[in-house]
Amino acid sequence: MIIPKTREEIELMRESALIVSKTLGMIASEIKVGVTTLYLDKRAEEFIRDHGAEPSFLGLYGFPNSLCMSPNSQVVHGIPNNKPLESGDVISVDCGAYKNGFHGDHAYSFEIGEVAEDVKKLLRVTKESLYVGIRELKLGNRVEDVGNAIQKYTEAHGYGVVRELVGHGVGQKMHEDPEMPNYGKRGRGKLFIEGMVVAIEPMINLGTKNIRQHKDGWTITTADGKPSAHFEHDVAIIDGKPEILSTFAYVYQALGIVSNEEEEFRKVPFVI
Ligand code: MG
Ligand code: MG
Repeated sequence: MIIPKTREEIELMRESALIVSKTLGMIASEIKVGVTTLYLDKRAEEFIRDHGAEPSFLGLYGFPNSLCMSPNSQVVHGIPNNKPLESGDVISVDCGAYKNGFHGDHAYSFEIGEVAEDVKKLLRVTKESLYVGIRELKLGNRVEDVGNAIQKYTEAHGYGVVRELVGHGVGQKMHEDPEMPNYGKRGRGKLFIEGMVVAIEPMINLGTKNIRQHKDGWTITTADGKPSAHFEHDVAIIDGKPEILSTFAYVYQALGIVSNEEEEFRKVPFVI
């Protein structure tokens, strides 16, 4: 059952989402060649606690860390370790923060050093597909309208859309109804409702859509070993339209990237 949130609850969720956004911004300023994911994980845990929140992922289903850090062919759920990052790596950093009874859940894929052009394009298209999907999160639409938009956009570039892992409702629990697949058919799935909040998170592979689950119970890689990209925002439906609660602004600030993608998204009028 989808649990709608009141306006007050959505503001609390925005606070949790923005703690995650700021954490990703801090990571952006530290992530580079030679740094280990375990070091970044410790920094993130301190940062989240310094902001009066708790790391959502630590202990969730037994996950041992505060960040999921998934380099290269790892799709999501990667466990931080002591291996230094290398030039050419791309890495999904997924982070959750729990405050005032609500979770934020939000992810960005970073380039380390010099990254190959085809991988840069994978990151760009995957991030664009996130906004293409969010546009469909409005009253009158259904769950698979979002997935269909993401699938069409990314498959047009020949990429593989992961089937086994999906976005989700978020709130007092990290994973709530509905599941939000990144694929699907128009007009199918649960109807969207006012006040719902979801984490939309395309997981897109450069090659095959197929994945491999490793014996550690967490690590998931692409079946062909090619890179995978992952971006995630928390989005509420307010007045029938999507309102993005998280922001990549802190990441862009730290990386010196000029982007007005979120402003542009808000400028385009929605027809409900
Ligand atoms: Mg996440
Ligand atoms: Mg999520």
